[in-house]
Amino acid sequence: MRFILLGAPGAGKGTQAQRLVDAHDIVQLSTGEMLRAAVAAGTDIGKRAKAVMEAGDLVSDDILIGMISDRVTEADCGNGFILDGFPRTLAQAEALEVMLAQKSLKLDAVIEMKVDDALLIGRITGRYTCANCGAGYHDENLKPKVAGICDNCGRTEFSHRSDDNAEAVTTRLAAYHEQTAPLLPFYRDKGSLKTVDGMADIDEVTRQLNDVLALG
Ligand code: ADP
Ligand code: ADP
Ligand code: ZN
Repeated sequence: MRFILLGAPGAGKGTQAQRLVDAHDIVQLSTGEMLRAAVAAGTDIGKRAKAVMEAGDLVSDDILIGMISDRVTEADCGNGFILDGFPRTLAQAEALEVMLAQKSLKLDAVIEMKVDDALLIGRITGRYTCANCGAGYHDENLKPKVAGICDNCGRTEFSHRSDDNAEAVTTRLAAYHEQTAPLLPFYRDKGSLKTVDGMADIDEVTRQLNDVLALG
């Protein structure tokens, strides 16, 4: 199974991808996580992306397209993948079409996770992850079962993303509306777009996603 989770920052893409990976034995390809790893490792791509990401702008299409093109042919993608955070521009979406056709791969669906902007700001500013295993949490919406201890790995250190601040969030939402939202009519016209209610609670969104994916 191969599909795109499309939605604004904070829409719940990463949260749902983590659940779907476990349920369907596929991998999550988060371009945001790949870029953060490149920044942490100090690679050339990381050096070029760092300031852009801090500001909340989009990293160049060339970098992203190259990164995904290499990644989708790795062995662990054989059973399928979830694209989380890619494509984010029309140029990326068009490059993805070409790339998949060349590799004889087909997408099963493009799923829009629809959430109002008013809700997104609180989602992003309250978000944090386990520093050890990357499990995602939220100050109010999704707390660990035991305060301060990761449900998944039992460790006690957590981290907040440096771009999850009010200023960068405003830029990221603007980037979404200007550069990513045009992908909705692009995929709608192709007949591959499905929509789920990203404002529902986390379990309900998972249920809707599984329904959509079962319909293929
Ligand atoms: P994205 O990957 O789309 O940027 P995340 O999955 O990281 O978004 O979700 C952003 C924050 O909102 C996280 O802290 C997550 O726990 C929380 N969250 C995700 N989905 C929901 C939901 N349906 N209802 C309430 N909070 C949610
Ligand atoms: P969010 O959780 O807000 O959806 P991501 O983790 O997907 O954020 O991305 C974090 C940052 O990484 C983005 O604000 C952007 O700077 C960069 N980025 C990630 N994916 C892409 C992409 N496909 N194209 C351009 N920039 C990207
Ligand atoms: Zn953990």
